[in-house]
Amino acid sequence: MEKILLLLHTEPDGSLARPALEAVTAAQALAPHRLTIGLIGASVDTGAAQAAGCSTRILAVTGEPFAQSRYATDAAAAEALCRAAEAELVLAPSTARWSRVLPGVALRLNGRIDTHATALARQNGVPAVTRWFYRQRIEAVLTRAQRPWFILLDPGCCAPYPGAPGAAQIETVVVETPACRTAVTGIQAPPAGEQTIRPDAKLLFVAGAGWTKKQSDGAVHAAEAEQLILGFLHASQGSLGGSKSLVDQSGEGEAVLKCMTHLNQVGQTGSTPRHPKGLSTCCHGEEPHTVGWRFVTERRAINLDPSCGWARGKADVLYVADAFQVLRELIAILR
Ligand SMILES: Cc1cc2nc3c(=O)[nH]c(=O)nc-3n(C[C@H](O)[C@H](O)[C@H](O)COP(=O)(O)OP(=O)(O)OC[C@H]3O[C@@H](n4cnc5c(N)ncnc54)[C@H](O)[C@@H]3O)c2cc1C
Repeated sequence: MEKILLLLHTEPDGSLARPALEAVTAAQALAPHRLTIGLIGASVDTGAAQAAGCSTRILAVTGEPFAQSRYATDAAAAEALCRAAEAELVLAPSTARWSRVLPGVALRLNGRIDTHATALARQNGVPAVTRWFYRQRIEAVLTRAQRPWFILLDPGCCAPYPGAPGAAQIETVVVETPACRTAVTGIQAPPAGEQTIRPDAKLLFVAGAGWTKKQSDGAVHAAEAEQLILGFLHASQGSLGGSKSLVDQSGEGEAVLKCMTHLNQVGQTGSTPRHPKGLSTCCHGEEPHTVGWRFVTERRAINLDPSCGWARGKADVLYVADAFQVLRELIAILR
């Protein structure tokens, strides 16, 4: 069997976050209990203990220079771990940190890389990767002869590895800190409560252009729409998605929802998020939009139009109703 290395970076407290534990589960499909794990971080003891039950060998590059995401240090550490493990197959979760650095590491080692893998398995004894092409319309299973083969695993496709923490023996790999032009001085991010895109949320809440259209009284109610959408998100802790028509409106000088940007857009030219449930409101449910719902397990929609796109097999349940009224009720119940 080929040598398989799973690269993981630890969090500031030394533990493994959910995407890392999901990658452990995915890697088990190829190498049950025969996995080498390569850890990077300021400290890795907690993370090593979390993964101890599924690995035969744990390698680590540790120390302050490897605490922060930075191309030069991460690439040097990953390259050293791949060489120490003599890895033929290198797996890693698609975190921003690994996505940035691993294509370059694959080049250094004369390997190849595939991204956005959703599953790993063996086909006729050789490793095979499942991924989607053409904006999630075609699912393919592919293999490669080139080694080392690097594979980035999309988050949200596997359950996190549930193993109980165990005693881990860590082999330290010494890496000379490369010349760095980048000093990481800190992270600036909005408080979690103000974020509207929450990839881990149980619910995807989608707002469509209907929220900014004239309503039954002949008037537009964009301010109330924004209040209701944010009120519902606050109460449900859902993640906010939008249709293209809605997020494009700011450029057209129409009534806009300030909480919406192009980052919220779901669909063919937007994102394809993974959530267990989705609720669409004031959105027609056309194919270029609903193709972004490919990985939403249970889908519901609220629309005034009983023959909207959602009614044609795109949603499990369509509520033919006024979304303004439904959201007012829902918020009252949730509060
Ligand atoms: C190449 C291409 C790529 C595209 N990519 C994307 C993409 O990535 N994402 C995307 O979203 N679109 C995409 N589109 C556009 C897509 O085809 C639709 O035009 C768009 O999704 C429509 O947005 P909407 O449903 O919000 O707006 P509309 O079609 O205007 O629908 C508004 C809906 O709101 C309902 N409504 C109004 N008031 C209420 C109320 N009070 N209560 C309940 N319902 C109400 C109406 O009945 C209506 O169905 C793409 C199109 C093309 C050609």
